[in-house]
Formats: sequence, C-alpha cells, structure tokens
Amino acid sequence: MFIALEQLQDKPVRFDETFAPGVVDYATPGLRQISGLHVKGIASILGAEIHVQGSLTVQLETECARCLDPVAQDVKRTFDLYYRSLDESPEADELAVPRGEEELAFFSGDGLQLEDVAKEQVLLSLPMRAVCRTDCKGLCPQCGINRNRETCRCAETAADPRWEALKKIRS
Ligand SMILES: [Zn+2]
Ligand SMILES: [Zn+2]
Repeated sequence: MFIALEQLQDKPVRFDETFAPGVVDYATPGLRQISGLHVKGIASILGAEIHVQGSLTVQLETECARCLDPVAQDVKRTFDLYYRSLDESPEADELAVPRGEEELAFFSGDGLQLEDVAKEQVLLSLPMRAVCRTDCKGLCPQCGINRNRETCRCAETAADPRWEALKKIRS
C-alpha cells in the first residue's frame, strides 16, 4: 500500500492491511513469515514530516543461533514514527521539529510504502540472537550433528594435546 503525500495533504490516511507471507521481502537469511502481517494505524502530515502511528502483529520463524532449528517469534509492536523528506526544501528544514534518532526516518519521492515501514519495524523487534531453548546444546563442531537430538563420540575421541605429548615421550 502506497501512502501518497498528495493524499495526506488532503486528510490523514488510515490503514488496516494484511500482507501475506512472501509479499514483504525481509532480505534476512533464515527469517520466514508464517502468518499474515497485520498493520493498522494512521498517517498524517505534521509540519514537513509524515507522522505514522500504528501497531503490527505477525508470526515469524528464525533460526536458533546454536542448532539452526526453527524458532517461533510472535511479534507485536506499536510504532510512532516521523518520516522526513530527503528532497526537502530549505523552508521544510525550518519547519522540522528535532526528533530522537529512533523515531526519525527518511523518505524520498512522493510518499511512503507501508510495506517498507512494516518491514523495518518487524526487523527491529527481532532479538539479535535467538535460541530454541536456553539450554540448547547446539551442533557438534566436528561432525555437525544436533546435540539436542543425538549424541556423538567426538568429544571423547578428540585428542587431548597433553596426552599426545605424553604418547610422544613414551614412544
Ligand atoms: Zn537450538
Ligand atoms: Zn560430533
């Protein structure tokens, strides 16, 4: 959904959209959207900026940082953002209200793509490092099996350098 500047100059634009999996490209390996992405809110003009307020919900799947198994992520987020035009005129600069970095973003051209706004908010809400469970044992660095499901003997058979040194002395 495109929120056109021209339309906003007339009156605020309400949105209530659901984007099916695949519509929004998160450009993040291992991230999958498994439910509709529901975005609801209102956009309006405030001085030289577009003010976007709303909330979103979506279910996603990411990979466990240790074993690479899927990890479910239930995202619920509210947002309150200000978009400033990149092609702003000098008088627009005077009208601009100083904002904190976390809520100020930029747009170019004649409006905002709601999908892009939602995508950024979804990415911001994901943990940097997700794990399937706090005691996930991860993958064996030698044979690659999932140590939550299988046991390998790599740890036992891995040569301890101290024993290796002893063996050399004996022989
Ligand atoms: Zn895991
Ligand atoms: Zn192993």
